[in-house]
Amino acid sequence: MKEFKAESKRLMELMINSIYTNKEIFLREVISNASDAIDKLHYLSLTDKKIKVKKDDFAIIIKIDKDKRTLTISDNGIGMTKEELENNLGTIAKSGSFDFKNNNKKKENIDIIGQFGVGFYSAFMVASNVLVISRAFDYDDAYSWESKGIEGYSIKSTTKDTYGTDIILTIKDEEEYNKYLEEYEIRSLIKKYSDYITYPIKMEVTKDKETKLETINSLVPLWKRNKKDISLEEYNTFYSDKFFDYELPLSHIHTQAEGMLEYSSLIYIPSHASYDYYTKEYEKGLQLYSNGVLIMEKCSDLLPDYFSFVKGVVDSSDLALNISREMLQQNRVLKTIANNIEKHIKNELLDMQKERREDYLKFWEAFGLQIKAGIYNSFGADKDKLEDLLMFYSSKEDKLVTLQEYFEHNKDEKDLYYACGSSISQIKMLPQVETLIAKEKDILLCPNYLDEFVFKVMGKYQEKDFKNVCSDNIDIDTEEEKEELKNLNEKSKDLLSLMQEQLDVKEVRFTSKLTNHPVCLSTRGQISVEMEKAMNAMPNSEEVNAEKVLEINSHHPIAQKLQDLYQNDQEELKKYSKVLYAQARLIEGLPLDNPTEITDLICDILVK
Ligand code: ADP
Repeated sequence: MKEFKAESKRLMELMINSIYTNKEIFLREVISNASDAIDKLHYLSLTDKKIKVKKDDFAIIIKIDKDKRTLTISDNGIGMTKEELENNLGTIAKSGSFDFKNNNKKKENIDIIGQFGVGFYSAFMVASNVLVISRAFDYDDAYSWESKGIEGYSIKSTTKDTYGTDIILTIKDEEEYNKYLEEYEIRSLIKKYSDYITYPIKMEVTKDKETKLETINSLVPLWKRNKKDISLEEYNTFYSDKFFDYELPLSHIHTQAEGMLEYSSLIYIPSHASYDYYTKEYEKGLQLYSNGVLIMEKCSDLLPDYFSFVKGVVDSSDLALNISREMLQQNRVLKTIANNIEKHIKNELLDMQKERREDYLKFWEAFGLQIKAGIYNSFGADKDKLEDLLMFYSSKEDKLVTLQEYFEHNKDEKDLYYACGSSISQIKMLPQVETLIAKEKDILLCPNYLDEFVFKVMGKYQEKDFKNVCSDNIDIDTEEEKEELKNLNEKSKDLLSLMQEQLDVKEVRFTSKLTNHPVCLSTRGQISVEMEKAMNAMPNSEEVNAEKVLEINSHHPIAQKLQDLYQNDQEELKKYSKVLYAQARLIEGLPLDNPTEITDLICDILVK
């Protein structure tokens, strides 16, 4: 018996004692080694005319023997000589992807298993004995390599009819490992991890007492097939099989890049948010393959957060199978692919917005919030990438429009107008909004709490400012109107300040911007009423107060009434002030601090 090299021992120990939950990946590792071995022979046969092997004969064969508790994986690849068995299986990780010296904590070691393509030794996670019988191509003699794990291994001379390698795993006795002797389980693991290995993976299955070899994998992945030959139905079926979504996707984007960087990607824009999409549990990412072998289920580095809803696969021959997560993050190939994918997604969405508005609206309904959050969370840094995707409700057109469309339709306006509230119909009824709508102004009606925050971080769109029509500095009156109003407010200074003293507002003033309604509430400064509501609804937030201005319709009979009261009954004027302010708060959907006082006051006035 020979001893393993020191670092191999460490890895072996890890594998044997692994509490790693993904033990099933051993099959992926063994199959991909088999596939590599066939690749090597295949390559030889292509470069050396004397070597005659038929490509069609290449196969990986899986056999289960429940009685002996063995799972055998055979290939007719290049095989190994005695020296190769010794060198390749006696020492692990010549590639240096493991640096054990810096890694002695057990916990970290376990993480390593999840992060690397761990190779041949992963077989020891599920096997109590590993027997390798191999005959190198063009050699007559065969050798076996056998190990029960850490103790060491032995190499013996043996016989084998054909070149290639058999890996015979004796599956551990504990019940949790029994599944690796079940045809169903092995079949689904092949489907899951090795479906697109380019050689047939055949399994021995017994049906009606007859044993047959059945090919389990699909061989050529959809993303590697010629786009011209793929029907929409095939794309859709692949989507639902792979991502377990039974609603059709809105779009697929199939890219096959050649040249400097070779990769294929097939990505999908779902038509609805999955049930967990807006929860913490949701994990973004694309499936990452290295030449047909799955290396990561969810590679998050391939997608920016604002496109986290996208599903798909990326396959590149420029990525090594055993690349670690840490290495991936810095990997230039991956970064370039990620950038390309981001551009593709954006272009696809813009196309959809132009050509298939119905679909885009579905997309917007499902994922619009994510796009808005993308702008807000980056404090506007990503706005150039995302602003063209935004949609808001135009009061004039009575439907969702893009900012570009809104901009085009309102070229003569100085600013971009918006108003916020809890629903489109509630916002439309806000006095300020109603007046502007009557004046044929186009306003973006924003029923989502994020909307205004998005405008604030964007600041401008195409050089124009976003203006909340409920702010106190909205500038839409004519010069004449402004002058008239200024005079009225000057003249009524004492009346207005008496009213203001009664209330929690910065100012009370007359306005000409209302038509029918007596009062409205506007705000001054950065924080609007809707922002106040949103911020105060957040847990642990300090109370925020918008600077409010009570505006009174100068054309309404109430204006004259207030003037009269100021002359004749200032106590009554104070009551009126409170009632009018309460009205303005109610219209804005703000709570009253003192509802009983207000209702009593109203009754007082009613019975007069
Ligand atoms: P890696 O595949 O990353 O090099 P492994 O531990 O999986 O590391 O395998 C070690 C080496 O053993 C492989 O590089 C290969 O040379 C050899 N090997 C493993 N399985 C086979 C096989 N089925 N046929 C031929 N050689 C193999």
